[in-house]
Amino acid sequence: MSKTLNRRDFIKTTSATTIGVATVASGITLTTFADTNKTPVTNEKRWGMLIDTNKLSEVDIDGMVSACQKEQGWGSEVHSTGSQKPGWIKKLKVKDKATGRISNLALMCQHCEEPPCVDVCPTNASMKREDGIVLVDKHLCIGCRYCMMACPYDARSFVHETLSNQKEHMPRGKGTVESCTMCVHKVDKGGIPACVASANSDAVIFGDLYDASSKINQTLKTVQSAQIRADLNLNTGVRYSGL
Ligand code: SF4
Ligand code: SF4
Repeated sequence: MSKTLNRRDFIKTTSATTIGVATVASGITLTTFADTNKTPVTNEKRWGMLIDTNKLSEVDIDGMVSACQKEQGWGSEVHSTGSQKPGWIKKLKVKDKATGRISNLALMCQHCEEPPCVDVCPTNASMKREDGIVLVDKHLCIGCRYCMMACPYDARSFVHETLSNQKEHMPRGKGTVESCTMCVHKVDKGGIPACVASANSDAVIFGDLYDASSKINQTLKTVQSAQIRADLNLNTGVRYSGL
């Protein structure tokens, strides 16, 4: 899936130095997937991603999409058409009107610190963990799709059909909402997200935004980075450079 958007409407550049000042909001639901001895879920961490658009070709982004599909088991739906198709991660084109320059973006759930999808959920199915990862609890989701309407990034999908052959770690259900989990099943075991693993290690960096010694933190101190729609003050966990 590929779209072209106006760059100015889409981003607002922020200083890299804003990283680390954020705090985790109260009332957050804690969800743990696995092996918390290795990677405890704590608000002392905040998982994030830095995507360098200059270092990713369209082919690279297609590779990230494929890696996500393979890892999470989406993309082979047979009855869903058009906007019904799930899109946990999408390839977007952003055009700078002044220069005509086009950037290719990999856009997934931005794992907002202040997630509107969580605020509007009537059942608390839409939740944020203490480490900043935003998830949907399929057992609590009633499919009202309020979170889809509230998300400014169009990051969530609704499952329109009965599915088979699902991944054990990612059961998907007709009538529920889903989105990028930041591959929490891997992260909780000390791993990295599948899309990150598929890309060049300098092009997409995953890590703890709060850890001053982490590669993502160090890199954010040296590059001009942006949050998509920073004007909304959602303090996203996914950041971009090269825009
Ligand atoms: S990008 Fe959308 S789905 Fe993800 S946390 Fe933000 S509001 Fe929620
Ligand atoms: S972090 Fe995992 S779930 Fe999210 S886009 Fe990347 S591969 Fe997909």
